[in-house]
Amino acid sequence: MQLEKYSIGHGDRFGNQGVAQLDAILAARAQGIDVVPVWNKSFREHSIVGSSPAMVRQEADAAVAARGYQGSYYVDADHINLSNVEAFLAVSDFFTIDVAEAIGAPVEETAKTEFLRRFSAYEGPLQVPGIERPFAISPELLSRIADKYLAAVQQAAAVYRHICTERGEDRFIAEVSVDETDEPQSPVELFFILGALAEAGVRPQTIAPRFTGRFNKGVNYVGDVATFTREFREDIAVLAYAHREFGLPANLKLSVHSGSDKFAIYEPIHRALKDSGAGLHLKTAGTTWLEEIIGLAEADGEGLSLAKEIYATAYEQADALCAPYAAVIDIDRAKLPAPQAVQAWTAEQYVAALRHDLGCDAYNPNLRQLLHVGYKVAASMGERFTDALVACRQTVSQNVTENLLVRHIQPLLAGL
Ligand SMILES: [Zn+2]
Repeated sequence: MQLEKYSIGHGDRFGNQGVAQLDAILAARAQGIDVVPVWNKSFREHSIVGSSPAMVRQEADAAVAARGYQGSYYVDADHINLSNVEAFLAVSDFFTIDVAEAIGAPVEETAKTEFLRRFSAYEGPLQVPGIERPFAISPELLSRIADKYLAAVQQAAAVYRHICTERGEDRFIAEVSVDETDEPQSPVELFFILGALAEAGVRPQTIAPRFTGRFNKGVNYVGDVATFTREFREDIAVLAYAHREFGLPANLKLSVHSGSDKFAIYEPIHRALKDSGAGLHLKTAGTTWLEEIIGLAEADGEGLSLAKEIYATAYEQADALCAPYAAVIDIDRAKLPAPQAVQAWTAEQYVAALRHDLGCDAYNPNLRQLLHVGYKVAASMGERFTDALVACRQTVSQNVTENLLVRHIQPLLAGL
């Protein structure tokens, strides 16, 4: 199985928007943007929403059948490890092996010695084609990289081998993710992580590093765009070089997690892809759920009432909802409107506050982030929520499709 050059991972918390998401892909393809869909959902999301991996497979297959889509598509077991991969094995064909928690964990001395022996040939100035200045590789640097990442690599290899045994090596796409950590990986660290993965027999087609800057949930990129751009371009060069040096898959590409709504870096990413010819996987999750609320609000009446109720409950439960996501949100509580104020809003006011339109004065990133992490509120509403989605289907699906197509795929992959 070989992942195409451009792919979009779209999560769908409640599993109702498969067709609307596929419609964005189909519209993009009709415009000449060669992108394939990946339905991703993590163990964590399944636990919170009460869904199962098999439901994602059903959703994807049903959407594809409904639209008669003939191209490739995938179902991603997102952020899995050995403790929770079992339920995904039969139904997923894309596995995001998350080893961030093993960063810095100890390894056996012999493994470190072997790593240092294998990569000592790179000591001295290392010139990577496409990167202006050479990296200075010292024995100390290699030792530090081993201390930091070797345990993560070993863990990735263990999960990878398990999936190979259960599914067969050619019957899945492997991604390795190290993004859920505080410290970004430098391009040179990425190079040796890839080398060590290759040594351990792992053949990733995508890798998700932790990039410079903040990738908060559902809102714009926060950080130095010039620094991000340099790092992103160097990462691309490193991947191409790692493919040649270590025999990794030729289609190895970067995966950008929490990638939705990072409008500030889409143009630099687009230009870097154009200049290098590299591919990209962009992973989004909660942005579709936010479009569901926008669609409910826009439908007015019952839909708007439900959207207000979701906000009021999320506001009340803010501490509990935000806690698991503390590292990936920045909410200024003082700027959250009081639920009583929101209660008086028109549909237009609600939509304007929530929709990610940077040109709109009423857009409120604090409210948006709170609702982003507030999907548990809708999950606890059960059928009241899913019935409302059905009742407001037209505005909901229109917003889901347009968001993916116009605000994500087009600027990122076509520079529009
Ligand atoms: Zn991630």
